Amino acid sequence: PSAPVLLDIRDLCVRFGGIAALDGPSLAVRQGEICGLIGPNGAGKTTLFNCVSRLHQPDSGSITLGGQDLLRLRADQIAGAGVARTFQSPGLFTSLTVVENVLVGAYHRTPGGLGAATLALPSVARHERRQRVRAMAVLDELGLADVADRVAAGLPFGTLKRVELARALMCDPRLLLLDEPANGLIHGEVMELAAVIATLCRERGLSVLLVEHHMAMVMAVSHHVVALNFGRKIADGAPEEVRAHPDVVAAYLGSA
Ligand code: ATP
Repeated sequence: PSAPVLLDIRDLCVRFGGIAALDGPSLAVRQGEICGLIGPNGAGKTTLFNCVSRLHQPDSGSITLGGQDLLRLRADQIAGAGVARTFQSPGLFTSLTVVENVLVGAYHRTPGGLGAATLALPSVARHERRQRVRAMAVLDELGLADVADRVAAGLPFGTLKRVELARALMCDPRLLLLDEPANGLIHGEVMELAAVIATLCRERGLSVLLVEHHMAMVMAVSHHVVALNFGRKIADGAPEEVRAHPDVVAAYLGSA
């Protein structure tokens, strides 16, 4: 009765000069599932993310999303294929309001990208109104409706993280790549964000690949966890099983 696999990564290899940043790991993320990706510094987590979001072309291996070959797409085509990502530090426009920042995410879906001006004017207005309604719905979903018209500068970091999440959701992704979302947050904010992410998955059937060093968060939200070390997969399974896996324990001790 398990959900079908959405993201399927096989035998992924990336070399930087003499270093194998990724040495053939395979992993799968099912529909509606949160997969935690852990490992000490330099394990290859960011490199794997960069391959999926097409910022880096792997030397070999395959990545498919619902059967579609992602390696044939460019980074600018990835949102259209249903993949959104967030970065370690939220890249928000500080002088824009929250809702304006979220609307920036909507341009991924505009036919012809930012070239909406080539449409007839009334249809541009209609399109913008529609996007605004969608943006407000997403903000509401993330508990941000109250701050929609506030300028981003000066808002608490935990709020900005949620705004970034809202922006990513504007392209209606099937897969969300979260790069250390807990980074810079205090414990209470981390657990709040974890709850938001869990709800999104449950209610939208969204799949998430979560790179995170905050172990309590990974353990709290992940349906399954994959551990990397030196570019190789050393464990893959239920969160508690992976955390207690002798190779994982050794990898973290070795990096301490
Ligand atoms: P962290 O938790 O510190 O972010 P990570 O698990 O994300 O680490 P990566 O950043 O993917 O690890 O790095 C994997 C390996 O590849 C490391 O040895 C790193 O030094 C190397 N590496 C990553 N990017 C490059 C690059 N552009 N050029 C050369 N080496 C790189």
